[in-house]
Amino acid sequence: MDRQPKRNSRVNVRRAEVMGIVQEKVRRHYQSALVESVRSSGNRLELGHTTFVLAPEFGFCTGVQRAIDIAYAARNVFPENRIFLIGDIIHNPEVNRQLAAMGVIRLPWKTMTDEYDELCEKDVVIVPAFGVPVPFMDFLTNKGVSIVDTTCGDVVKVWRRVKDFAAMGVTSIIHGKATHEETLATASRALGEDGRGKYIIIFTEEDTRALADYMMGHGCRDEFMKRFEGAMSPGFDPDRDLVKVGLANQTTMLKSETQSIQTMIRNAVVKRDGNDERYSVFDTICGATQDRQNSLFQLLDEKPDIMFVVGGYNSSNTTHLVDIAKESVPTFFIEAAACIRSLTEVECFDTRLHRIVESSFPEVMGNPDVPVKVGITAGASCPGNLVEETIFRVGMLRGDSFDSILTAAGMLPGQYQ
Ligand code: SF4
Repeated sequence: MDRQPKRNSRVNVRRAEVMGIVQEKVRRHYQSALVESVRSSGNRLELGHTTFVLAPEFGFCTGVQRAIDIAYAARNVFPENRIFLIGDIIHNPEVNRQLAAMGVIRLPWKTMTDEYDELCEKDVVIVPAFGVPVPFMDFLTNKGVSIVDTTCGDVVKVWRRVKDFAAMGVTSIIHGKATHEETLATASRALGEDGRGKYIIIFTEEDTRALADYMMGHGCRDEFMKRFEGAMSPGFDPDRDLVKVGLANQTTMLKSETQSIQTMIRNAVVKRDGNDERYSVFDTICGATQDRQNSLFQLLDEKPDIMFVVGGYNSSNTTHLVDIAKESVPTFFIEAAACIRSLTEVECFDTRLHRIVESSFPEVMGNPDVPVKVGITAGASCPGNLVEETIFRVGMLRGDSFDSILTAAGMLPGQYQ
């Protein structure tokens, strides 16, 4: 493959004459007048015996909103061209389904398969909000396609950190999931301009313990290499490459976990060196992830009887919301309102088993005559209309009519679009 990029083929589709039309379409596809009304009434909706409490912050973050707007704008600016998307634009099946319905063709994101070879100069390729690894960008540039880049600015900030680490001869320790698009994109930048930078990806506290132990001179090299197989830069040597280390994280990690990991790695360096001079850290959790986690804690203070977390099952920030909520309340991670089969049965995603399971609601949900407080939040990639559908589904199963739900939210039935 020719490694020298031909030309800078990024195109800016955020043109003033396009964005007005595009944002109106995006609003129609994803916004919810009901949710906006509940938000403006203190995030509470009181029906007969059912009280809904929404987290103060949930749903689309600015990075996701921007990525969707840009993807829609690309369709508008290039109505006749083939438009491709590398993987998912964000981790929400409803949004990806809408893009597919607009004729956007999904390309695999893990490896560049034969489909990539068939791209030609007239094609448009959308880079998702998580970004893509450097070799993908080089390949697209060489192909001469028009690149529409929706990478979130907060992800780019992490890339800057790990590139700086590489330039300083510091090995990046990336706290993230080694199979997540964003982490793979970040890891490729940790190799630095000359490709000689080093990285290792850790995900769990057990990974961190194994890494910290090795840094302090304990642990078996073979076991270490086996544990981190596929999560290290090419040719990684733990005896050579863990001297100067810098921590960065996937933007959507759990704050408490990231802090504990930072402490463990720093303590390992201090124990080994007597000081922390060869340790650097940048907390790169993005503001939107942090706000949604803080908001959930506020909601949990209201002591809901059950919680719904709405979002894509492969969404990292959503999964962490589930993990927070289930510590204190029965929590159901659903992709859409249709997962709620009845007042007793629900299909939901188990974050521990990593699969969809059939589950049961607590008894209080099943009796519409008994008051229940239902908490709802949603990940940064979840549109408001899916939260709205959840409210309607639960409210109507518990005996409220469509119109009475709108009225309780301060809306006239005629206002509903
Ligand atoms: S969750 Fe954070 S990093 Fe991801 S798109 Fe939103 S703002 Fe950007």
